[in-house]
Amino acid sequence: MDPRTATLLSHVRASAENRPGVYRFFGPAGELLYVGKSVRVRTRLLSYFRADEGEKAWEIVSQSHQVEWEYTASEFAALLHEFRLIKSHRPLYNVEHKRDRAHCFLQLTREAVPRLRVVGQPGGGGTAEYFGPFHGRHTMADVVRAVNDLLELRDCPSETPMRLADQIQLFPMKDDPRCMRGQTARCLSPCAAGCTTAEYHAQVALARAFLNGESDRPLVILRERMAMAARRLQFEYAAELRDRAERLENVQAWIVELGRTLRRLSLVYTVRGHGGDDRTYVLRRGRIRAEVPAPRTPEEHSALDARVRDIFAMPEPEAMGLRAQEAQELMLVAKWFRLHPEELDATVPAPARAGSDEPFEEAAEARAALARTLERTVEGPEEPEDAEPDGVSEPAG
Ligand code: SF4
Repeated sequence: MDPRTATLLSHVRASAENRPGVYRFFGPAGELLYVGKSVRVRTRLLSYFRADEGEKAWEIVSQSHQVEWEYTASEFAALLHEFRLIKSHRPLYNVEHKRDRAHCFLQLTREAVPRLRVVGQPGGGGTAEYFGPFHGRHTMADVVRAVNDLLELRDCPSETPMRLADQIQLFPMKDDPRCMRGQTARCLSPCAAGCTTAEYHAQVALARAFLNGESDRPLVILRERMAMAARRLQFEYAAELRDRAERLENVQAWIVELGRTLRRLSLVYTVRGHGGDDRTYVLRRGRIRAEVPAPRTPEEHSALDARVRDIFAMPEPEAMGLRAQEAQELMLVAKWFRLHPEELDATVPAPARAGSDEPFEEAAEARAALARTLERTVEGPEEPEDAEPDGVSEPAG
């Protein structure tokens, strides 16, 4: 072991405790290389120094000039802290090694002439809306192709020059669509003045409504085409359209299911903390809206109720469109409860806690329903390639 690594190891041995927390490895210029979390920080950190050459942990340690850690109240608190650190610093080893390949999202870009695409991860801070997560990238690619064709949205690269019909032209001229989709009526051809801005955005709104589970316009168009194909005795084509319609219906059912999970992820969740540092989290639609010390006195309980009421009084669209960080936080929280279903016992449906008039189920019923929807909507634990010694799952990054 080289002297630098030996110094890091003796620092960990001398000071780290076996408590939940988040640790960070820094490179020669103080740059953050890796963020991790564990229920037992000391054990976890020591395991890095036992890693074999070529393993990720070995690589991290061999590049590190400094290691730091901070304790958190619980594993859940560590998970959230780690997630936020990864999001704000994008450490090299987290970014390189943690890509969630199991899920994909649909991205509706916020370009002047938006596009609908499949992406692996939400990203790019506020420049798009995201729908999902979904399983099966290939199926979702088919779905996107179908929605794009049915609603005649463009799917060309972002740098393709656009020329909308209401754009003022110094030298008006007649253009041909730049690709076959425009020539075969599968795109409105905003590249060749085939539509106005408003016409194109009306189609984008339909795509958004479909993905929010509020409209089935693409399905209606498909069914009309199926009927037409059958009337023309084009049975093969009609069967193809039927398969496509089935895929779209499945996606819509999935969206409705996701919506249910999201609604049920409106909870007040109290987490037992290390040394009595219990914390209460208020979640609305899968996102953490407040974290407070767990109330103990009647006054503290009333203050929490008031806080929950305020959070739920704020209007919020029911839509599924999420900003990147929201989608990732939702996944993190959903996966937490999926992997730790016993933690649902420490939750109370938030509308119940807020004493609102909104109809709500009995807590036990709501928890059971949430466990069922999580089972279906969030994939179970992946088989970790490099299982951590203390059984803590790898960070979601
Ligand atoms: S027709 Fe034009 S706008 Fe439509 S996909 Fe092709 S290049 Fe893009």
